[in-house]
Amino acid sequence: MSNETRSVDVIIVGASLAAAAAAKRLHDAGLETLIIEKRELPRHKVCSGILSPRGHRFLLENFGPIPPQALHDPTSCRGVTFHFPSMVSMSMDFFGGTTPHLHRRYSDYWAIQASGAEVFDQTSFIGMKQQGDHQTVTTRKKGGDEVYFKSRYVIGADGPSSPVLRAVYPDYPQQIPWFFVGQKFHEIIDCPLDEAYFHFWFHPELGHYTWSHARDGRQIVGVGFKRGDNFHGRHQHVVNYLQDKHGVRLKPADVDHEGCAENFGPSLINRYVFGKGNVLITGQASGFLNMIGEGMSCALHSGAIAGEAISEATIHKRDLKPLYRDMISTEVRRTTDQWNPLKIAFGRPHEADFPAALMALPMKDRIKVLRDMWRFVCLYKEFKWGRKIMRESLARLKHGRYPGVRWQ
Ligand SMILES: Cc1cc2nc3c(=O)[nH]c(=O)nc-3n(C[C@H](O)[C@H](O)[C@H](O)COP(=O)(O)OP(=O)(O)OC[C@H]3O[C@@H](n4cnc5c(N)ncnc54)[C@H](O)[C@@H]3O)c2cc1C
Repeated sequence: MSNETRSVDVIIVGASLAAAAAAKRLHDAGLETLIIEKRELPRHKVCSGILSPRGHRFLLENFGPIPPQALHDPTSCRGVTFHFPSMVSMSMDFFGGTTPHLHRRYSDYWAIQASGAEVFDQTSFIGMKQQGDHQTVTTRKKGGDEVYFKSRYVIGADGPSSPVLRAVYPDYPQQIPWFFVGQKFHEIIDCPLDEAYFHFWFHPELGHYTWSHARDGRQIVGVGFKRGDNFHGRHQHVVNYLQDKHGVRLKPADVDHEGCAENFGPSLINRYVFGKGNVLITGQASGFLNMIGEGMSCALHSGAIAGEAISEATIHKRDLKPLYRDMISTEVRRTTDQWNPLKIAFGRPHEADFPAALMALPMKDRIKVLRDMWRFVCLYKEFKWGRKIMRESLARLKHGRYPGVRWQ
C-alpha cells in the first residue's frame, strides 16, 4: 500500500459475512471495492457457527459448496433443543435437513476471497470525512502510519460495536442496552446432551442467554447477560447447573475462553441503523439478529442488499439512502417477524417448527413450557421492549411491513 491517497468506488469495513456478500454484489457489478479488516486474516470470530438453513442456501447459491476446512466437528447441526427450568426439553429439527457447523476463521475468509474484492487486513478503520461527493477514509495499518483513501461509498460491516456507526451517530451506543456473551471450552468426561443439536436454556436464573454444544471434541458452555456482570461467576453457575440437572460432567475450562459485546435488542423493536448519505451500515452493525442469536443469515442477506443498493444507485444515478431503506425492508421483515408474537402465534417465522414440537408434548408439559417461557421473557422487562414489540407487530399487521420512521 502506498502513502498516496487512492480512490475507489466502495470501501467495506470488516471482513466478515456481511462484507463478503456486499463485496460479491459490488465486484460483480464492476465497482472497485476494497475491504479493510483490523485483524490478520484468516481471523478468529467468537461464534457458535451454527448456520441456519437460509444462510446455508445463501452461501451455496452465491459462493458454492463450503470447503471441508471451513467446518467444525461435528460438521453439521440437526436443529435446536430448548430446555426449561421445569426440566421439560424439546428438540426441533431445522426445516430441510441439517446445516453446516461453520468454522468462522475459515468460512469467512473463504467467502471474502470468493467475493473477488481486494482485501487489506491488519488495517483498522479510524474515521472518515465527507469531502465533496466522496468520503476520505482514514485507516491505520498495524504498527504503521495512517493511510487515507477516497471512496465514493462506505459500508460499515464491522459488527455490533461498529466504529463506522459510531462515526456517523456518535450517540447511538448510549441509546441501546449492551450485553456480554462469553463461552468457555471444556474437555468432556460425560455429556448426555445430544451433540447433533444446539442446546439453549430458557432459564432466567442462568442468564439472558445460555447455551451449550459440542465442538472439536470439547463442550462449549456459553452465557450471555447484561454488561457489567461477572463472566466467570455466571459461567460456573451454568456448569454446576448442567452437572446437577443434566448429568453433564466436564473438566475445568481450558484457558482459551472468549467473549464480546452484543447489541441484542434493535431487531426486536425495529430500531435498526442503516446510515446516511453515502455511508451504509449493514449486518449485525445495523442491528440484525435472529432468534437465539442467529446472525449469520441476516448478515449475509443484508450485506448483499447493501451491495445491490450501491450498484443500483451508481448505475441508475439514484439517491442511495431511500433506495437502501426500501430494499432492506424485506430483511427487516424477515428478522423482526421472528420476534413478533402475532407471527409466532399464527405464522411460521422460524426455521424449525416450535408450534409442532410444543403440540407433541403432553398437555401438562405444554403448560409448563409456556409458563417457563413467560418467566424467561419477564427477565427482559427492565428494557421496556414489550409495548414497542406490540406496536411494531400491529403496524406489521396493518401495513404488511415494519415502519421505517425510527430507523437511523
Ligand atoms: C458467542 C456467539 C455465538 C454466536 N453463535 C451464532 C450461531 O451459532 N449462528 C449464527 O448465525 N450467529 C451466531 N452468532 C452471531 C454472529 O456471529 C454474528 O451475527 C455475525 O457474525 C455478524 O456478522 P457481520 O458480518 O455483521 O459482522 P462480524 O461477524 O461481527 O464481523 C465484523 C468484522 O469487522 C471487523 N472490524 C471491527 N472493527 C473494525 C475496524 N475498526 N476496522 C476494520 N475492521 C473492523 C471485525 O474484526 C470483524 O472481522 C454468535 C455470536 C456470538 C457472540
